[in-house]
Amino acid sequence: MKKQILRTCIFIMSFNIFTATIKSDDKFSTLMEQNKQREKQFNEDKKKIEQAIKETEEELKKKEQEREKNKNEQIYTQELIENNTQQQNVIYDEIEQLDIEIGSIEGEIQELDNQIISIEEEILGLESKIKQKEYDIEVIKKELKQAEIDRDNHYEEMKDRMVRMYKNNRSGYVEIIFSSDNLLELLNRSHYINIISNLDQNILNNLRKAQKFIVDNKKKLEIQLYELEKLKDQELEKKSTVYSKINDKESKITEREKNQEQKRAKINQLETNKDILNDYLEELEDEDIDLITEQAILSEEIKELIRQSQVKFDEALFTWPVPGWTYISSDYAPRINPVLNIQEFHQGIDIPATYGTPVVAAAQGRVIVAGWVNGFGYTIMIDHGDGLVSLYGHNSTLNVKAGDYVKAGQQVAGIGSTGYSTGNHSHFEVRVNGKHTSPWPFLGMEE
Ligand SMILES: [Zn+2]
Repeated sequence: MKKQILRTCIFIMSFNIFTATIKSDDKFSTLMEQNKQREKQFNEDKKKIEQAIKETEEELKKKEQEREKNKNEQIYTQELIENNTQQQNVIYDEIEQLDIEIGSIEGEIQELDNQIISIEEEILGLESKIKQKEYDIEVIKKELKQAEIDRDNHYEEMKDRMVRMYKNNRSGYVEIIFSSDNLLELLNRSHYINIISNLDQNILNNLRKAQKFIVDNKKKLEIQLYELEKLKDQELEKKSTVYSKINDKESKITEREKNQEQKRAKINQLETNKDILNDYLEELEDEDIDLITEQAILSEEIKELIRQSQVKFDEALFTWPVPGWTYISSDYAPRINPVLNIQEFHQGIDIPATYGTPVVAAAQGRVIVAGWVNGFGYTIMIDHGDGLVSLYGHNSTLNVKAGDYVKAGQQVAGIGSTGYSTGNHSHFEVRVNGKHTSPWPFLGMEE
């Protein structure tokens, strides 16, 4: 575009700073050197950012591994809790079974208790029977005693009678009587006694009756006593059997209750363990939430670092100050001033555009001039730092004021023809440490 430059800019160099002769090549190489330095710094910074990304990504990976570990731990803990619950259920079933068994044994004991009550009633009845029997026996014994006395009396009476018969010598059977060893033998030899007179017969009969009564009743008495003892023994045995059964049942209950107690203790232990496991699980879940938060923070950091790493160095280049208008009517070069018709050096580039077209900041910086400057008309000057300043002349309007900070591409003015100018255009000029220099390298183009 430089080849088609029309030297139509009417521009009077009215300031001393613009009249100095500049060796633009020297300035350019200084700038290029500075640019190289900046680029070097930029690349170093970029490497650092990339390293930081790598490290942050590794950290993120570690967090992921921690979460994986945490998740496995959670699964394992949940399995333990499930196992614990199953164990508890089994024990609860066992306790229920024991309850049923105890209930059934208690029923059996109740039954045995009833049996004991009935046996005790039987024994009571038996005891009154025994008392009655003992009384009866006592009566029989008395009767026996009386009978023995009667018998002995009868015997004495008979002996007496016989002795009297012997003295009268009326019979020959006395030696028979006295040769008998005792009374029983005498009675057995009764056929001899048939001869005894009718009078004597009565006495003998009484004697016989008494003796028979005694023998019979003694036998009866013995049988009754024996039966009584047997009955008593049977009842006692029965009672003792029932008591022993009750003892068995009670010891069974005790055993089951002990078993239950052990199981309840086990349940308590399991409950405690479960509480501990649940607390641990909650801790793990909290930890996971923390890890997720940390991951989110790290991801944001990575995003920010990536954004930083994607920044390109050519951002250091200037933005074209009149977007859409690239025709250059007068270049940065020596020329004949069209108004004064004298040799001069044109210190900027002239970019014609229609009235009001936006003029934008070539780069970010601080506005140091926003007002009327003799010759340039309404002018904007922006300080970009490092002694670099851009200038925009001949504007019709100004959009910013001195002191404002502007971004690259931000509208700062509108195209006009104020100051020494013959038509609507922007005079764009670059200064380094107060001296003008070719804008082209800053615009990314060769001169
Ligand atoms: Zn100009």
